[in-house]
Amino acid sequence: MKADYLIEFRVGVFNCFTCGNIYRSKQTLVRHIKYECQQAPRFKCDICSYKAKLNCNLLKHLRSKHHRTNSRRNSNS
Ligand SMILES: [Zn+2]
Ligand SMILES: [Zn+2]
Repeated sequence: MKADYLIEFRVGVFNCFTCGNIYRSKQTLVRHIKYECQQAPRFKCDICSYKAKLNCNLLKHLRSKHHRTNSRRNSNS
């Protein structure tokens, strides 16, 4: 099993060729490639133009930028 074409080996550093992100472990990089890098961002922020590839990243964004605790919407219009 070789995935070396995706991974540039440096001194304990794993580099995603597609986006240039650097990871400390191969496992993290592989997860990034599978679930983040090759995926289109599916989770969009209602408030700004932020897009996340992982739901947890969107929730993190909502919490830190917009002080929201969850992404539930109240449609009271
Ligand atoms: Zn990447
Ligand atoms: Zn936002």
